[in-house]
Amino acid sequence: MKICDIKKVDGIAPEVFEYMNLKKHEKVIFCSDEESKLNAIIAIHNTNLGPALGGTRMWNYNNISEATKDVLRLSRGMTYKAAITGLDLGGGKAVIIGESNNKTDNMMRSFGKFVESQKGQYITAEDVGMTTHDMEIIFEQTNHVVGKPKKLGGSGDPSVVTAYGVLMGMKGSAYFKWGSDKLQGKKILIQGIGNVGRNLIELLIKEGADIYVNDVNANKMTTIQKKYNVKAIHDNIYNSNIDIYAPCALGGTLNEHTIPQLKCAIVAGAANNQLAKEYIHDDLLIKHNILYAPDFLINAGGLINVYSELKGFSESQVKEKTEKIFDTTIAILKKSEKEKISSQKAALKIAKERVFKTQSA
Ligand code: NAD
Repeated sequence: MKICDIKKVDGIAPEVFEYMNLKKHEKVIFCSDEESKLNAIIAIHNTNLGPALGGTRMWNYNNISEATKDVLRLSRGMTYKAAITGLDLGGGKAVIIGESNNKTDNMMRSFGKFVESQKGQYITAEDVGMTTHDMEIIFEQTNHVVGKPKKLGGSGDPSVVTAYGVLMGMKGSAYFKWGSDKLQGKKILIQGIGNVGRNLIELLIKEGADIYVNDVNANKMTTIQKKYNVKAIHDNIYNSNIDIYAPCALGGTLNEHTIPQLKCAIVAGAANNQLAKEYIHDDLLIKHNILYAPDFLINAGGLINVYSELKGFSESQVKEKTEKIFDTTIAILKKSEKEKISSQKAALKIAKERVFKTQSA
């Protein structure tokens, strides 16, 4: 297994270094293991508030530069997610380059050794393309993993709590926009019916919402329609007649092409980095009179859940902490209105104050 610091890697695009310096990343580490076919990157953005915690994403990136940019963006988001949620954690993230169907337990063991090499400065968890079973295998090699199965003393699948937090953020946004947090009869589109999306459907059914779903995987759409009373949207989802759009797939879906098409009043979902350009598309949403619930604020339920593994929270304390997302969402939206800045900027301002005690990065 070869592990090296980015500072020793030749041929990485200079823009990666520029981004690291601009956004103040502490460290990026690369790992390549021929035997298990593991190619992975860990990015540690900031450890001012505690060890850097963030999930591992397995994705079929086109090249190393694309994977590096993703891990840098995602790790920074984790710093602010922990900060705004009031957790004593830093921000980090890992990516594994490859098709998740080709994953092996051997590869996960190798990844566990890679995590262990950081001696607890980085703690890993589950993200897209990873499962609770993978966490179990990684745990064979390192203690610095959370989101383990309950049978191993872990907190289990975090997506259940993530979905609950998204619901809280959605209800807080509805309260701010419409003066009521009731979602009954509201047309809500969930894009991505994976772990979080499926749990969100169940919660929104209890709220009496009118649910629409979309997923690139046609089989998932068919299965979900058989199980729940939801409507499927197959074609262009962005110009659908809906009240709330909940991105629960991948990031970057809020951009100059999609925002002008949106007819919804609120965007509130689980996906990380929903704004393709965070300081441009946040203002574009305002221009189109669309309320945006910052993703890193409302998708923090999973982080709260895995944090409980480190701090020994009970299930009821996790629920209580996750429910606070409702109040924080309203507070951020009020700040945004008062200071005439986007909700994204208002949320980042508060998070950065906690991390840096300044306004930079
Ligand atoms: P998942 O992999 O279980 O589900 C993602 C779903 O999105 C899949 O069904 C996939 O087919 C679908 N999808 C992918 N690209 C799509 C596209 N272009 N259009 C429509 N559907 C598409 O992932 P998840 O755990 O449900 O997480 C969803 C999002 O929420 C991710 O961005 C993740 O980073 C974020 N998130 C998840 C958690 C968590 O606890 N799982 C916590 C915080 C944030």
